[in-house]
Amino acid sequence: MSVYFIDVIIPIPIQKTFTYSVTAMEYEFLKKGMRVAVSFGKTKMYTGLVFKLHKTPPEAYEAKEILQILDDKPIVTEHQLKHWEWISTYYMCGLGDVYRAALPSAFLLESETIIFKNETFENDDILSDEEFLIYEALQHQSQLTIHQVVDILGKKKVLPIINELLHKSAIYIKEEIYEQYKPKLIKYVRLHGNYSSENSLESLLTELSRAKKQRDVVLSYFQLATFKKPIKVKELETVSGASSATIKALVDKDVLEYYLIQTDRISFNGNTNDLKELNEFQEQALQEIKTSFKTKEVTLLHGITSSGKTEVYTKLIQETLDSGKQALFLLPEIALTTQIIVRLQHYFGNQISVFHSKYSMNERVEVWNNVLENKSKAQIILGARSSIFLPFKDLGLIVVDEEHETSYKQFEPSPRYNARDAAIVLSHIHQGKIVLGSATPSLETYFNASENKYGFVTLNRRFGNVQLPQIHLVDMKEKQRKREMTGHFSDTLLKHIQEALDLKEQVILFQNRRGFSPIIECKTCGVSPQCPNCDVSLTFHKYKQELKCHYCNYQRAMPNSCGACGSNTLSTKGFGTEQIELELKELFPNHIIGRMDLDTTRGKYGYQKIIGAFEAREIDILVGTQMLSKGLDFDNVSLVGILNADMMLNFPDFRAHERAFQLMVQVSGRAGRSKKQGKVLIQTYNPYHQILQQVSSTDYAAMYKEQLEDRWQYHYPPYYRLVKITLKHKDYQKVDAGIIWLSKALQNVFREHVLGPSEPAVSRIRNQYIKNVMIKIPPKQSLGKTKQEIDKIKNTFQAIADFRPIRFIIDVDAY
Ligand code: ADP
Ligand code: ZN
Ligand code: ZN
Repeated sequence: MSVYFIDVIIPIPIQKTFTYSVTAMEYEFLKKGMRVAVSFGKTKMYTGLVFKLHKTPPEAYEAKEILQILDDKPIVTEHQLKHWEWISTYYMCGLGDVYRAALPSAFLLESETIIFKNETFENDDILSDEEFLIYEALQHQSQLTIHQVVDILGKKKVLPIINELLHKSAIYIKEEIYEQYKPKLIKYVRLHGNYSSENSLESLLTELSRAKKQRDVVLSYFQLATFKKPIKVKELETVSGASSATIKALVDKDVLEYYLIQTDRISFNGNTNDLKELNEFQEQALQEIKTSFKTKEVTLLHGITSSGKTEVYTKLIQETLDSGKQALFLLPEIALTTQIIVRLQHYFGNQISVFHSKYSMNERVEVWNNVLENKSKAQIILGARSSIFLPFKDLGLIVVDEEHETSYKQFEPSPRYNARDAAIVLSHIHQGKIVLGSATPSLETYFNASENKYGFVTLNRRFGNVQLPQIHLVDMKEKQRKREMTGHFSDTLLKHIQEALDLKEQVILFQNRRGFSPIIECKTCGVSPQCPNCDVSLTFHKYKQELKCHYCNYQRAMPNSCGACGSNTLSTKGFGTEQIELELKELFPNHIIGRMDLDTTRGKYGYQKIIGAFEAREIDILVGTQMLSKGLDFDNVSLVGILNADMMLNFPDFRAHERAFQLMVQVSGRAGRSKKQGKVLIQTYNPYHQILQQVSSTDYAAMYKEQLEDRWQYHYPPYYRLVKITLKHKDYQKVDAGIIWLSKALQNVFREHVLGPSEPAVSRIRNQYIKNVMIKIPPKQSLGKTKQEIDKIKNTFQAIADFRPIRFIIDVDAY
C-alpha cells in the first residue's frame, strides 16, 4: 500500500480538501499548485488541485488513487494558495468555492463539462488518433459530456486529450458561448479625389462662392484637415455649424465623400506617450502617498471628482514597473471603464493586459498564463474584481479605483468576497503597497484612515482649477403647487437643459431606477400584476408593451384589462429611465436623446457604444441609472440633473444615506470637468434633508460625522461586523421552521446581537422562499471564535433531516 498522499482541492462547495494516494514517483514529481484528475463519489471526475503533500493516510476513509497528473509545473502559486485560505476562512466558504471562482473554466474540466464541436475548425489532420475519435463523434452528436468521452475512448485518463482539442480549437466548452462583437462603424468624411490639387481647390471655392453654407463647410473642412486626423461627419457639422443636409449636398456634388471606420476602442494603436506632468497638488499628493507607503501598507487617496487621481496612479504604476514588479489596477466594472483602459494604454501600451469575466475563455487562459510567466505584456493588469485571483509573481502595487463601489462585493455565488478587502490581504501577502482611491470613500475605509490604520492623502482641487459644480436643490412640492412641472421635469430643470443645449453643451440626467421602476396598477381595485415566480410586481416596458420581472426575467404582453377586477383602468405608477427618455423626446424633438441602463447596455460592448457616442457628441442628452456615476470623464457636459433624489434616501438599508451621498456626488462630478464650472440640479420633495444639504455643499466630512454617529448608535459597521445567514427553499413552511430554529440557536449564543428573522424586500425569487437572520459582532468580540460558533450551529442545523434540503448561505460583511 502506498505511503504517499496528497490533499486535493476539489471545485465543489465543501469545507475540506480530500486525500488521495500517489506513487513514490508521482510524489517526487508533484508540487503544490499542480492539477490532477481525480474521481470523486461513485461516478464523478474532477480537476483537483494539489494543496499539500504528506505521508499521513486519512482516518475516515481509504484514499483513492489519482487518475492522472495534468500539469508539469504549478499553475497556481503559493501566494495564491495563502490568499485562498484567507478568503475561505474569512468569508466562511470552502476552498473549492474559491478554486472554482479563481480559475478560468478551461482549467477545470470535469465529468459534467459539456463539449461542442467548433464548426469553423478545418485542420483535422493535426489531430492525434484519439483526438480525432472525439472530433468525429461530435460530427454525429452535437454535444458530449466528458463522461461520454470516457466511454468512447474506453479509458479514464481523458482530460489531457480534451485539453489538447481545446488548445487546437477543434472544440469548445459550454461556458464559452459568447456574444459576437458587432463593430461600431463611424461615418467620416473626406475630400473627393477630384480635388486633390491646389488648382482644383481654387476653382472649387470660386464655384461655391454663391453657395455660402457649402463654402463654409469646405473651409471648415480644411481647418480640421490640418490636424491630419480622420474627420467625423459630426465633427464637421459642429465646427462649420452646417446641417447634415448641407454636407450631403456636397457629397452629392462629388466634392466630399463619406467613408466608414470601425472603432474598436479597446484595441491599442501601438504608440505610447510620456506620462503627463503633474500639477503641484497632484505632485504633493504623490509625494505624500510615497511617504505614507514607508510606514503603511494601505493608503487612502481622497481626491474630489476630476482632481486627476488617475494621473497620480500612473506615476505610482510607472515606479512599480521600474522596480521590476507587477501592478494591478482594479476597477469596479470593466465595461464602464473603457475610458481608463484607453488612458492607461496611452502610456503603458503593450505592458497592459485586461482581465474580465466576460472575456472569452481563451482570452482568460492567455492572460492567466502571461501573468504566471511574468511576461512583459502582463506587467499591469487592469481588471474587475475577479482579477485578484490571477497568479501574480511579485505584485508591487494595487490601485483600487472608486474603492467605495458596491460592485467590488460579490453577492452570488460563493465566495461572497469584497475585492477591495481581499486585495488588501493580497497586497500584504506580496509585501506590496495598495492605494484606495475615491472622491466619496466608503465609511469603513475613511474610518480606517482616521484611525491611522491606513495612510491618508487628500487632493481637493480639480485639475485645471475648475470649480466643483454648483449644486441647486429644486423643491418639487412647491413646483407642483405652482403647476410648474411638465411631466417629471420642473421648469427650472427644463430651462437649464435648454440653455446648455443652446450652447452646444451636453446634459446628463440621472434617474435611479432601484425599486422605482414603472409598475402597473389598477385604478379601480389597486391590484398590480405580479410575477408568478417572485414576490414582486412586474415592471412595465413601454417600448415593447411588455411586463417584465427584473428578478427572474419572466415576461408577458401588457394586458388590456385588470386581471383582478376586469376593468380597463390599468395605469402606470412610478417612473423609470425609459419614460424619462420618451418625455425628453417630446420636449426636445430636435436633439438626440440617449439612454444608458441595463436594458440598453447588454452584451460585452453595450456600454462602449453608448459612451463612445456620447463622447463623440452624437448624443445631446444622456439619461441613465447609477452606471453614470462610475468614473466617466466627458469634457463637454455642463449640466447634470437628478430627477428624483427621494427614492434613494428612503431605501431601507443602513447604508442608504451613505450610498445616496456617494451616488449624487459622483453623478454631479460628471459636470464641468474640463473648462468651466458645471451645474447640477437635484429635484426633491425634501430639500431640507440633511444628506441633500451635504450633497449640495459636497461636504463629505459632515456626512461622515453624522453617519458614523448613527452607525455607533445602531450597532453597524464600521464598529460592528455583520454576518448574514440566508435560507432558501421552495417550501415556505420548511424555510419558516428552519429560520425559527436557527434564530433561536443563534440567540442562545449571541443573545441581543442577533437581528431577525426577517424577510427581504423581495421574499420569493424563482419560486424559492427567502428568509434572513443577521448576526452583529461587537468591536471586541473575536471574529474567529464567532465564526466557529456559527459553523457549529450550521452543522447541527444541517444534521436535522428536515432542514437538510434548505440552502444555507453565509455572507460575511454582507453589505
Ligand atoms: P479623477 O480620476 O480624479 O476624477 P481624472 O484623472 O479623470 O480625475 O482627471 C480629470 C481630467 O483632467 C482628465 O481629463 C485628465 O486627463 C485631466 N488631467 C488630470 N491631471 C492632468 C495633468 N497633470 N495634466 C494634464 N491633464 C490632466
Ligand atoms: Zn420573477
Ligand atoms: Zn382592477
